[in-house]
Amino acid sequence: MNSDPEIAIVGGGLVGLCAALAIQHPGRQVHVIESSALAPKKAAGLESRSIALSYASVQIFKALGLWNAIKKQAAPIRTIHISSQGQWGVARLRAADYALEALGYVIESNILGNLLLDQVKKSNLITLDTEAKFESTAQGETVQLNFRGRNGPKQVNANLVLVADGGSSKARTSLGIEHRCIDYGQSAVITNVRVSKPSPYTAYERFTPQGPLAMLPLGKSRYACVWTHDPDNTDRLTGLDNDQFAEALQKCFGYRLGFIEQVGQRHGFSLHRSEALTLAKNRCVLIGSAANALHPVAGQGFNLALRDVASLCELFQDESIRNLNEIAMADILSKYEISRKAEHRQVIRLGDGLVSLYSNELPLLGHLRAGALSLLDIIPGLKAQVALFGMGFTFGGNSMLRGQMP
Ligand SMILES: Cc1cc2nc3c(=O)[nH]c(=O)nc-3n(C[C@H](O)[C@H](O)[C@H](O)COP(=O)(O)OP(=O)(O)OC[C@H]3O[C@@H](n4cnc5c(N)ncnc54)[C@H](O)[C@@H]3O)c2cc1C
Repeated sequence: MNSDPEIAIVGGGLVGLCAALAIQHPGRQVHVIESSALAPKKAAGLESRSIALSYASVQIFKALGLWNAIKKQAAPIRTIHISSQGQWGVARLRAADYALEALGYVIESNILGNLLLDQVKKSNLITLDTEAKFESTAQGETVQLNFRGRNGPKQVNANLVLVADGGSSKARTSLGIEHRCIDYGQSAVITNVRVSKPSPYTAYERFTPQGPLAMLPLGKSRYACVWTHDPDNTDRLTGLDNDQFAEALQKCFGYRLGFIEQVGQRHGFSLHRSEALTLAKNRCVLIGSAANALHPVAGQGFNLALRDVASLCELFQDESIRNLNEIAMADILSKYEISRKAEHRQVIRLGDGLVSLYSNELPLLGHLRAGALSLLDIIPGLKAQVALFGMGFTFGGNSMLRGQMP
Protein backbone atom coordinates (compact mmCIF):
# COMPACT_ATOMS: atom_id res chain seq x y z
CA MET A 1 0.00 0.00 0.00
CA ASN A 2 1.19 3.53 -0.83
CA SER A 3 2.11 5.39 2.40
CA ASP A 4 2.20 8.80 0.70
CA PRO A 5 -0.93 10.90 1.27
CA GLU A 6 -3.32 11.55 -1.58
CA ILE A 7 -3.55 15.19 -0.51
CA ALA A 8 -1.04 17.41 1.28
CA ILE A 9 -1.87 20.82 2.73
CA VAL A 10 0.82 23.43 3.35
CA GLY A 11 -0.27 25.60 6.31
CA GLY A 12 -2.51 24.65 9.22
CA GLY A 13 -4.16 28.04 9.84
CA LEU A 14 -7.96 28.33 9.95
CA VAL A 15 -8.22 27.69 6.20
CA GLY A 16 -5.74 24.78 6.07
CA LEU A 17 -7.47 22.99 8.98
CA CYS A 18 -10.95 23.50 7.48
CA ALA A 19 -9.69 22.20 4.14
CA ALA A 20 -8.23 19.07 5.80
CA LEU A 21 -11.52 18.33 7.58
CA ALA A 22 -13.56 18.89 4.43
CA ILE A 23 -11.48 17.00 1.88
CA GLN A 24 -10.64 13.93 3.99
CA HIS A 25 -12.55 10.93 2.77
CA PRO A 26 -12.59 7.26 3.79
CA GLY A 27 -9.51 5.78 2.16
CA ARG A 28 -8.10 9.22 1.36
CA GLN A 29 -5.22 10.34 3.59
CA VAL A 30 -4.44 14.04 4.12
CA HIS A 31 -1.08 15.34 5.41
CA VAL A 32 -0.93 18.88 6.89
CA ILE A 33 2.44 20.63 7.17
CA GLU A 34 2.37 23.50 9.66
CA SER A 35 5.37 25.57 10.75
CA SER A 36 4.08 26.52 14.23
CA ALA A 37 3.54 24.21 17.22
CA LEU A 38 -0.26 24.78 16.86
CA ALA A 39 -1.11 24.36 20.56
CA PRO A 40 -4.69 25.10 21.72
CA LYS A 41 -5.05 28.78 22.62
CA LYS A 42 -6.97 30.37 25.48
CA ALA A 43 -10.08 32.49 24.87
CA ALA A 44 -8.77 36.00 25.36
CA GLY A 45 -11.77 38.13 26.49
CA LEU A 46 -11.22 41.76 25.53
CA GLU A 47 -7.87 40.85 23.93
CA SER A 48 -9.35 38.36 21.46
CA ARG A 49 -9.41 38.57 17.65
CA SER A 50 -12.64 37.51 16.03
CA ILE A 51 -14.06 36.51 12.71
CA ALA A 52 -17.53 37.05 11.21
CA LEU A 53 -18.94 33.90 9.62
CA SER A 54 -21.39 34.33 6.75
CA TYR A 55 -24.51 32.18 6.52
CA ALA A 56 -22.89 30.19 3.69
CA SER A 57 -20.02 29.35 6.06
CA VAL A 58 -22.57 28.21 8.65
CA GLN A 59 -23.98 25.81 6.03
CA ILE A 60 -20.47 24.52 5.25
CA PHE A 61 -19.79 23.90 8.96
CA LYS A 62 -23.15 22.08 9.16
CA ALA A 63 -22.01 19.82 6.32
CA LEU A 64 -18.80 19.14 8.25
CA GLY A 65 -20.81 18.25 11.38
CA LEU A 66 -19.11 21.08 13.31
CA TRP A 67 -21.83 23.67 13.46
CA ASN A 68 -23.44 22.68 16.78
CA ALA A 69 -20.09 22.99 18.58
CA ILE A 70 -19.27 26.31 16.85
CA LYS A 71 -22.72 27.78 17.41
CA LYS A 72 -22.46 27.35 21.20
CA GLN A 73 -19.46 29.70 21.21
CA ALA A 74 -20.59 32.19 18.54
CA ALA A 75 -22.73 35.34 18.72
CA PRO A 76 -25.53 35.60 16.13
CA ILE A 77 -25.97 38.68 13.92
CA ARG A 78 -29.69 39.17 13.40
CA THR A 79 -29.52 42.75 12.12
CA ILE A 80 -26.84 44.67 10.24
CA HIS A 81 -27.16 48.41 10.71
CA ILE A 82 -25.37 50.42 8.02
CA SER A 83 -24.85 54.16 8.38
CA SER A 84 -22.63 56.94 7.14
CA GLN A 85 -21.12 59.42 9.61
CA GLY A 86 -22.63 62.91 9.23
CA GLN A 87 -25.21 61.72 6.64
CA TRP A 88 -28.93 60.97 7.02
CA GLY A 89 -29.16 57.61 5.23
CA VAL A 90 -29.42 54.38 7.21
CA ALA A 91 -30.04 50.82 5.99
CA ARG A 92 -30.89 47.74 8.02
CA LEU A 93 -30.61 44.14 6.91
CA ARG A 94 -32.64 41.76 9.06
CA ALA A 95 -32.40 37.97 9.25
CA ALA A 96 -36.16 37.76 9.90
CA ASP A 97 -36.82 39.24 6.42
CA TYR A 98 -35.23 36.10 4.94
CA ALA A 99 -36.77 33.69 7.49
CA LEU A 100 -33.32 33.03 8.95
CA GLU A 101 -32.22 32.77 12.55
CA ALA A 102 -29.17 34.95 11.79
CA LEU A 103 -27.43 36.61 8.84
CA GLY A 104 -24.11 35.37 10.20
CA TYR A 105 -22.22 34.78 13.45
CA VAL A 106 -19.13 36.18 15.16
CA ILE A 107 -16.66 33.93 16.93
CA GLU A 108 -13.27 34.43 18.55
CA SER A 109 -10.61 33.16 16.13
CA ASN A 110 -8.84 31.25 18.94
CA ILE A 111 -12.02 29.39 19.88
CA LEU A 112 -12.70 28.46 16.25
CA GLY A 113 -9.06 27.41 15.81
CA ASN A 114 -9.22 25.19 18.91
CA LEU A 115 -12.41 23.48 17.72
CA LEU A 116 -10.88 22.77 14.31
CA LEU A 117 -7.61 21.54 15.82
CA ASP A 118 -9.50 19.21 18.13
CA GLN A 119 -11.38 17.68 15.18
CA VAL A 120 -8.22 17.33 13.09
CA LYS A 121 -6.47 15.53 15.96
CA LYS A 122 -9.42 13.13 16.28
CA SER A 123 -9.34 12.15 12.61
CA ASN A 124 -7.37 9.06 11.66
CA LEU A 125 -7.39 10.23 8.03
CA ILE A 126 -5.39 13.40 8.77
CA THR A 127 -1.71 13.54 9.76
CA LEU A 128 -0.85 16.87 11.36
CA ASP A 129 2.87 17.59 11.07
CA THR A 130 3.57 20.62 13.28
CA GLU A 131 6.85 22.56 13.61
CA ALA A 132 7.37 21.50 10.02
CA LYS A 133 8.43 24.31 7.71
CA PHE A 134 7.72 24.03 3.99
CA GLU A 135 10.82 24.74 1.87
CA SER A 136 10.32 23.72 -1.77
CA THR A 137 8.40 21.63 -4.29
CA ALA A 138 9.56 19.31 -7.04
CA GLN A 139 7.19 18.18 -9.79
CA GLY A 140 6.99 14.66 -11.13
CA GLU A 141 3.99 12.36 -11.51
CA THR A 142 3.11 13.56 -8.02
CA VAL A 143 4.16 16.72 -6.20
CA GLN A 144 7.10 16.35 -3.85
CA LEU A 145 7.03 18.71 -0.87
CA ASN A 146 10.31 19.29 0.92
CA PHE A 147 10.13 20.66 4.41
CA ARG A 148 12.16 20.92 7.60
CA GLY A 149 10.81 19.14 10.66
CA ARG A 150 12.05 19.14 14.26
CA ASN A 151 14.63 16.48 13.41
CA GLY A 152 15.80 17.73 10.03
CA PRO A 153 14.68 17.57 6.37
CA LYS A 154 11.56 15.57 5.43
CA GLN A 155 9.46 15.06 2.32
CA VAL A 156 6.04 13.82 1.26
CA ASN A 157 4.67 13.12 -2.22
CA ALA A 158 1.04 13.94 -2.86
CA ASN A 159 -1.33 13.76 -5.83
CA LEU A 160 -2.94 17.08 -4.91
CA VAL A 161 -1.50 19.92 -2.82
CA LEU A 162 -3.56 22.68 -1.21
CA VAL A 163 -1.42 25.73 -0.53
CA ALA A 164 -2.71 27.51 2.61
CA ASP A 165 0.42 29.05 4.09
CA GLY A 166 -0.94 32.61 4.28
CA GLY A 167 -0.36 35.96 2.59
CA SER A 168 3.42 35.66 2.27
CA SER A 169 3.10 32.09 0.96
CA LYS A 170 6.47 30.49 0.36
CA ALA A 171 4.77 27.62 -1.47
CA ARG A 172 3.18 30.10 -3.92
CA THR A 173 6.63 31.55 -4.66
CA SER A 174 8.12 28.09 -5.02
CA LEU A 175 5.46 27.27 -7.65
CA GLY A 176 6.36 30.43 -9.54
CA ILE A 177 2.85 31.87 -9.18
CA GLU A 178 2.92 35.65 -9.24
CA HIS A 179 0.60 37.80 -7.18
CA ARG A 180 -0.58 41.37 -7.52
CA CYS A 181 -0.57 43.55 -4.43
CA ILE A 182 -2.55 46.78 -4.10
CA ASP A 183 -1.93 49.05 -1.17
CA TYR A 184 -5.17 50.80 -0.12
CA GLY A 185 -3.14 53.51 1.61
CA GLN A 186 -5.19 52.70 4.70
CA SER A 187 -4.62 50.83 7.89
CA ALA A 188 -6.95 49.47 10.55
CA VAL A 189 -7.06 49.60 14.31
CA ILE A 190 -8.61 46.48 15.78
CA THR A 191 -9.69 46.11 19.37
CA ASN A 192 -12.60 44.92 21.51
CA VAL A 193 -14.81 47.13 23.65
CA ARG A 194 -17.48 46.85 26.32
CA VAL A 195 -20.50 49.12 26.03
CA SER A 196 -23.20 50.22 28.48
CA LYS A 197 -26.28 49.54 26.29
CA PRO A 198 -25.55 46.50 24.12
CA SER A 199 -27.84 45.47 21.32
CA PRO A 200 -26.42 41.93 21.36
CA TYR A 201 -27.58 40.68 17.97
CA THR A 202 -26.84 43.79 15.89
CA ALA A 203 -23.66 44.43 13.88
CA TYR A 204 -22.85 47.99 12.87
CA GLU A 205 -21.05 49.08 9.73
CA ARG A 206 -20.45 52.83 9.79
CA PHE A 207 -18.81 54.57 6.88
CA THR A 208 -16.74 57.59 7.82
CA PRO A 209 -14.70 59.95 5.64
CA GLN A 210 -11.54 58.22 6.95
CA GLY A 211 -12.78 54.70 6.22
CA PRO A 212 -15.29 52.11 7.47
CA LEU A 213 -15.83 51.31 11.15
CA ALA A 214 -17.32 47.91 12.01
CA MET A 215 -18.66 46.92 15.43
CA LEU A 216 -19.46 43.21 15.63
CA PRO A 217 -21.34 41.67 18.56
CA LEU A 218 -19.33 39.15 20.58
CA GLY A 219 -22.10 38.40 23.11
CA LYS A 220 -23.23 40.22 26.26
CA SER A 221 -21.74 43.72 26.21
CA ARG A 222 -18.62 42.90 24.14
CA TYR A 223 -18.03 44.15 20.59
CA ALA A 224 -15.16 43.58 18.19
CA CYS A 225 -14.14 46.85 16.54
CA VAL A 226 -12.34 47.19 13.18
CA TRP A 227 -11.68 50.88 12.48
CA THR A 228 -10.09 51.83 9.17
CA HIS A 229 -8.02 55.01 8.87
CA ASP A 230 -5.14 56.55 7.04
CA PRO A 231 -1.84 55.19 8.42
CA ASP A 232 -0.92 58.38 10.37
CA ASN A 233 -4.25 58.37 12.18
CA THR A 234 -3.91 54.67 12.97
CA ASP A 235 -0.54 55.32 14.62
CA ARG A 236 -2.07 58.16 16.60
CA LEU A 237 -5.08 56.05 17.69
CA THR A 238 -3.02 53.03 18.73
CA GLY A 239 -0.81 55.40 20.80
CA LEU A 240 -3.75 56.83 22.80
CA ASP A 241 -4.44 55.62 26.34
CA ASN A 242 -7.68 53.67 27.00
CA ASP A 243 -9.79 56.71 27.98
CA GLN A 244 -8.59 58.82 25.07
CA PHE A 245 -9.23 55.98 22.61
CA ALA A 246 -12.73 55.33 24.04
CA GLU A 247 -13.50 59.04 23.64
CA ALA A 248 -12.29 59.11 20.00
CA LEU A 249 -14.29 55.99 19.15
CA GLN A 250 -17.37 57.31 20.91
CA LYS A 251 -17.16 60.54 18.90
CA CYS A 252 -17.01 58.62 15.62
CA PHE A 253 -19.54 55.87 16.42
CA GLY A 254 -22.02 57.92 18.50
CA TYR A 255 -24.20 56.61 21.35
CA ARG A 256 -26.19 53.82 19.64
CA LEU A 257 -24.66 51.35 22.13
CA GLY A 258 -24.52 53.76 25.06
CA PHE A 259 -21.10 54.54 26.53
CA ILE A 260 -17.89 52.78 25.55
CA GLU A 261 -16.90 51.65 29.03
CA GLN A 262 -13.81 49.51 28.48
CA VAL A 263 -11.39 48.97 25.62
CA GLY A 264 -8.89 46.16 24.98
CA GLN A 265 -5.39 46.50 23.60
CA ARG A 266 -5.23 48.16 20.16
CA HIS A 267 -3.42 46.63 17.21
CA GLY A 268 -2.78 48.54 14.01
CA PHE A 269 -1.90 47.05 10.63
CA SER A 270 -1.73 48.27 7.08
CA LEU A 271 -4.42 47.22 4.61
CA HIS A 272 -3.65 45.90 1.21
CA ARG A 273 -5.25 43.49 -1.15
CA SER A 274 -3.29 40.79 -2.83
CA GLU A 275 -4.45 38.40 -5.50
CA ALA A 276 -2.61 35.43 -6.98
CA LEU A 277 -2.67 35.62 -10.79
CA THR A 278 -3.44 31.89 -11.02
CA LEU A 279 -5.23 29.72 -8.48
CA ALA A 280 -3.99 26.34 -9.64
CA LYS A 281 -0.80 25.00 -11.18
CA ASN A 282 0.67 21.49 -11.55
CA ARG A 283 -1.65 19.65 -9.11
CA CYS A 284 -1.38 22.54 -6.58
CA VAL A 285 -4.26 24.85 -5.61
CA LEU A 286 -3.90 28.11 -3.66
CA ILE A 287 -6.52 28.73 -0.98
CA GLY A 288 -7.08 31.29 1.81
CA SER A 289 -4.73 34.26 2.12
CA ALA A 290 -2.23 32.51 -0.17
CA ALA A 291 -4.80 33.04 -2.97
CA ASN A 292 -6.35 36.33 -1.84
CA ALA A 293 -5.95 38.84 0.95
CA LEU A 294 -9.00 41.11 0.97
CA HIS A 295 -9.99 44.38 2.62
CA PRO A 296 -11.76 43.47 5.87
CA VAL A 297 -14.59 45.92 5.04
CA ALA A 298 -16.94 43.15 3.95
CA GLY A 299 -15.57 40.42 6.30
CA GLN A 300 -15.14 38.02 3.37
CA GLY A 301 -11.59 36.55 3.36
CA PHE A 302 -12.15 33.43 5.44
CA ASN A 303 -15.72 33.02 4.18
CA LEU A 304 -14.61 33.12 0.56
CA ALA A 305 -11.88 30.56 1.31
CA LEU A 306 -14.47 28.20 2.82
CA ARG A 307 -16.52 28.43 -0.37
CA ASP A 308 -13.35 27.60 -2.35
CA VAL A 309 -12.89 24.52 -0.17
CA ALA A 310 -16.56 23.54 -0.71
CA SER A 311 -16.04 23.83 -4.45
CA LEU A 312 -12.92 21.61 -4.33
CA CYS A 313 -14.80 18.98 -2.31
CA GLU A 314 -17.55 18.94 -4.94
CA LEU A 315 -15.09 18.61 -7.83
CA PHE A 316 -13.13 15.79 -6.18
CA GLN A 317 -16.12 14.14 -4.51
CA ASP A 318 -15.96 10.68 -5.95
CA GLU A 319 -12.62 10.77 -7.63
CA SER A 320 -9.73 8.72 -6.37
CA ILE A 321 -7.22 11.52 -6.82
CA ARG A 322 -4.42 8.97 -7.10
CA ASN A 323 -5.97 7.62 -10.30
CA LEU A 324 -6.28 10.99 -12.04
CA ASN A 325 -3.79 11.36 -14.86
CA GLU A 326 -2.32 14.75 -15.81
CA ILE A 327 -5.06 15.53 -18.33
CA ALA A 328 -7.95 14.64 -16.02
CA MET A 329 -6.38 16.62 -13.16
CA ALA A 330 -5.72 19.65 -15.39
CA ASP A 331 -9.33 19.51 -16.58
CA ILE A 332 -10.73 19.57 -13.03
CA LEU A 333 -8.40 22.34 -11.91
CA SER A 334 -9.21 24.46 -14.93
CA LYS A 335 -12.96 24.18 -14.11
CA TYR A 336 -12.10 25.18 -10.55
CA GLU A 337 -10.05 28.19 -11.66
CA ILE A 338 -12.74 29.52 -14.00
CA SER A 339 -15.60 29.22 -11.54
CA ARG A 340 -13.76 30.47 -8.45
CA LYS A 341 -11.93 33.37 -10.14
CA ALA A 342 -15.30 34.76 -11.21
CA GLU A 343 -16.54 34.86 -7.62
CA HIS A 344 -13.21 36.16 -6.29
CA ARG A 345 -13.35 39.06 -8.79
CA GLN A 346 -16.89 39.94 -7.75
CA VAL A 347 -15.97 40.00 -4.06
CA ILE A 348 -12.83 42.06 -4.79
CA ARG A 349 -14.81 44.55 -6.92
CA LEU A 350 -17.38 45.03 -4.18
CA GLY A 351 -14.69 45.57 -1.53
CA ASP A 352 -12.83 48.07 -3.71
CA GLY A 353 -16.06 49.86 -4.62
CA LEU A 354 -17.04 50.26 -0.98
CA VAL A 355 -13.58 51.50 -0.05
CA SER A 356 -13.60 54.22 -2.71
CA LEU A 357 -17.25 55.25 -2.30
CA TYR A 358 -17.08 55.37 1.47
CA SER A 359 -13.57 56.65 2.12
CA ASN A 360 -13.79 59.96 0.37
CA GLU A 361 -14.49 63.40 1.76
CA LEU A 362 -15.94 64.97 -1.45
CA PRO A 363 -19.38 66.48 -0.54
CA LEU A 364 -21.05 65.07 -3.68
CA LEU A 365 -19.98 61.57 -2.71
CA GLY A 366 -21.40 62.20 0.77
CA HIS A 367 -24.87 62.79 -0.74
CA LEU A 368 -24.46 59.77 -2.99
CA ARG A 369 -23.58 57.61 0.02
CA ALA A 370 -26.58 58.84 1.97
CA GLY A 371 -28.83 58.31 -1.06
CA ALA A 372 -27.43 54.84 -1.65
CA LEU A 373 -28.13 53.79 1.93
CA SER A 374 -31.70 55.12 1.87
CA LEU A 375 -32.37 53.39 -1.45
CA LEU A 376 -30.91 50.19 -0.07
CA ASP A 377 -33.30 50.41 2.86
CA ILE A 378 -36.44 50.87 0.78
CA ILE A 379 -35.86 48.74 -2.31
CA PRO A 380 -36.53 45.11 -1.24
CA GLY A 381 -34.95 43.49 -4.35
CA LEU A 382 -31.75 45.50 -3.96
CA LYS A 383 -31.60 44.78 -0.24
CA ALA A 384 -32.09 41.05 -0.87
CA GLN A 385 -29.20 41.12 -3.38
CA VAL A 386 -26.90 42.80 -0.85
CA ALA A 387 -28.01 40.39 1.90
CA LEU A 388 -27.45 37.37 -0.36
CA PHE A 389 -24.00 38.67 -1.25
CA GLY A 390 -23.09 39.24 2.42
CA MET A 391 -24.36 35.76 3.28
CA GLY A 392 -22.15 34.30 0.53
CA PHE A 393 -24.87 32.94 -1.75
CA THR A 394 -24.55 35.10 -4.89
CA PHE A 395 -22.83 32.41 -6.89
CA GLY A 396 -25.51 29.80 -6.36
CA GLY A 397 -24.48 26.78 -4.47
CA ASN A 398 -23.19 23.30 -4.18
CA SER A 399 -24.16 20.64 -1.66
CA MET A 400 -22.04 22.06 1.16
CA LEU A 401 -23.75 25.44 0.84
CA ARG A 402 -26.96 23.48 1.45
CA GLY A 403 -25.45 21.98 4.60
CA GLN A 404 -24.65 18.54 3.14
CA MET A 405 -21.44 16.79 2.11
CA PRO A 406 -21.21 16.12 -1.63
C1 LIG B 1 -8.66 42.87 10.48
C2 LIG B 1 -9.15 41.68 9.74
C3 LIG B 1 -10.42 41.25 9.95
C4 LIG B 1 -10.91 40.16 9.26
N1 LIG B 1 -12.20 39.77 9.46
C5 LIG B 1 -12.69 38.76 8.75
C6 LIG B 1 -14.04 38.36 8.92
O1 LIG B 1 -14.77 38.91 9.75
N2 LIG B 1 -14.51 37.33 8.16
C7 LIG B 1 -13.72 36.71 7.22
O2 LIG B 1 -14.22 35.81 6.51
N3 LIG B 1 -12.43 37.05 7.06
C8 LIG B 1 -11.91 38.05 7.79
N4 LIG B 1 -10.60 38.38 7.64
C9 LIG B 1 -9.74 37.55 6.75
C10 LIG B 1 -9.28 36.28 7.46
O3 LIG B 1 -8.69 36.63 8.69
C11 LIG B 1 -8.27 35.52 6.58
O4 LIG B 1 -8.89 35.29 5.34
C12 LIG B 1 -7.92 34.17 7.16
O5 LIG B 1 -7.50 34.29 8.49
C13 LIG B 1 -6.81 33.53 6.33
O6 LIG B 1 -6.44 32.30 6.92
P1 LIG B 1 -5.30 31.39 6.26
O7 LIG B 1 -5.37 30.08 7.00
O8 LIG B 1 -5.43 31.40 4.79
O9 LIG B 1 -3.93 32.15 6.55
P2 LIG B 1 -3.12 32.28 7.90
O10 LIG B 1 -4.04 32.52 9.04
O11 LIG B 1 -2.06 33.29 7.65
O12 LIG B 1 -2.46 30.84 8.14
C14 LIG B 1 -1.33 30.41 7.43
C15 LIG B 1 -0.71 29.23 8.17
O13 LIG B 1 0.40 28.75 7.43
C16 LIG B 1 1.49 28.54 8.31
N5 LIG B 1 2.73 28.70 7.51
C17 LIG B 1 3.27 29.83 7.03
N6 LIG B 1 4.41 29.57 6.37
C18 LIG B 1 4.59 28.23 6.43
C19 LIG B 1 5.60 27.34 5.94
N7 LIG B 1 6.67 27.79 5.24
N8 LIG B 1 5.46 26.02 6.18
C20 LIG B 1 4.39 25.53 6.87
N9 LIG B 1 3.43 26.34 7.37
C21 LIG B 1 3.52 27.66 7.14
C22 LIG B 1 1.32 29.61 9.39
O14 LIG B 1 2.00 29.23 10.58
C23 LIG B 1 -0.19 29.63 9.56
O15 LIG B 1 -0.63 28.71 10.51
C24 LIG B 1 -10.08 39.46 8.33
C25 LIG B 1 -8.77 39.87 8.14
C26 LIG B 1 -8.30 40.97 8.83
C27 LIG B 1 -6.90 41.39 8.57
